[in-house]
Amino acid sequence: MRSFLFNNARVLDGSGAPPFAADVLVTGNRIADIAEPGMIATAGAHDVISCAGATLMPGLIEPHAHLSFVDQATPFAFHAIPVEEHLLLTLKHARLYLDQGFTSCFSAAATKPRLDIVARNAIDCGDFPGPRLRAASVQLTVTGGVGDLRQMHLDPGDAMYTLPCDGADAFRRAAREACREGVDVIKIVPSGDTSTPAVPSARTLMTDDEVAAVCDVARSQERVVAAHARSAESIKMCVRHGVKALYHATYADSEAKDMLEAKRDQVFVAPAVSVTITRLSEAGKHGLPSTPELRARIERDLELTLECMVDLRRRGVRVLPGGDYGFKWNPHGTNARDLAIFVERMGFTPMEAIVGATKWGGELMGMGHELGQVRSGFLADLLLVDGDPLQDVRILEDRERLLAIMKDGVFYKPPSLDRH
Ligand SMILES: [Zn+2]
Repeated sequence: MRSFLFNNARVLDGSGAPPFAADVLVTGNRIADIAEPGMIATAGAHDVISCAGATLMPGLIEPHAHLSFVDQATPFAFHAIPVEEHLLLTLKHARLYLDQGFTSCFSAAATKPRLDIVARNAIDCGDFPGPRLRAASVQLTVTGGVGDLRQMHLDPGDAMYTLPCDGADAFRRAAREACREGVDVIKIVPSGDTSTPAVPSARTLMTDDEVAAVCDVARSQERVVAAHARSAESIKMCVRHGVKALYHATYADSEAKDMLEAKRDQVFVAPAVSVTITRLSEAGKHGLPSTPELRARIERDLELTLECMVDLRRRGVRVLPGGDYGFKWNPHGTNARDLAIFVERMGFTPMEAIVGATKWGGELMGMGHELGQVRSGFLADLLLVDGDPLQDVRILEDRERLLAIMKDGVFYKPPSLDRH
């Protein structure tokens, strides 16, 4: 079995513990040993990587990936792309996530029913490079809800990037169908959104029995549910029925926050605010409406979301950086920016942001016992970083500072030769 010895690394293990100097041995696809420098024999078949004090940390984990979003300004673009080209773009994005050091992605919706599933399978069997992927369904929404792009005068066709459902039976059927096709994650949209004036963020769109129906299917088929939940009532429904990943949580009131806190060992929250921040700063350049009223509404949603995350962090809820990359103004490939947003806009320490993007990400993936930390026995998803992300978390945004990227014990990006 192939083995690698990372020699003289500064290990930032993802647990929240301070970094320490160590040698790290990888055998096969797992971390076999971590010891003080010089304590692991270098003789034998090991390839030795001289780290010279560079930071060795877990691969990053994106908690709200949309690999099939295509960096366009409007969701109508999802309809326009035939499935063949769409799959190629999805695989291209998968590789791009590895390029940036994201070795795992928890998907928060695909834009055609089988894109995530097929990409995950192709990655898993080694045909294409990409992160470990939890594959999601398309978004299950309600008629008139976020992502229902149908127009009365047109044949609805079957190319929707969301699946409108009405009533518990329709949601149950859609969830079962997604399970049949092989998703890991069922995505629902129980609230409105910042981007849809007709159905604003504070509005609850799904009913309690609809959310319950999807969660029942997920439980019985051993899948998980992720939800776009901005309104207070949508958050409460999600927590009540066992949704695992809640996104945005903008209008969480004190009751919703109490419920999240009470279930903090079961739920994860990811605000996914980069898309909102860049919507304000960049989207005007891409021809999107930018009236004062609209900007005011977006700014309000952003501020409320940021305030909510500060409070949830104080309450010990796992708040994870990442999310909603794949729009023209917030493109794939810039995901690590989310860590800096956590530090600069929400007062997280760099360590807290990194734990969110590693250890907690592993827990969200359902693999907390073997993913997201540099620990003996854990899967060898590792980054060797030039510099100290605790001093400046933004160095994780610079791919040139990622000296090596390993996934599952195999170098996706081998260390440069001069470090051997
Ligand atoms: Zn999203």
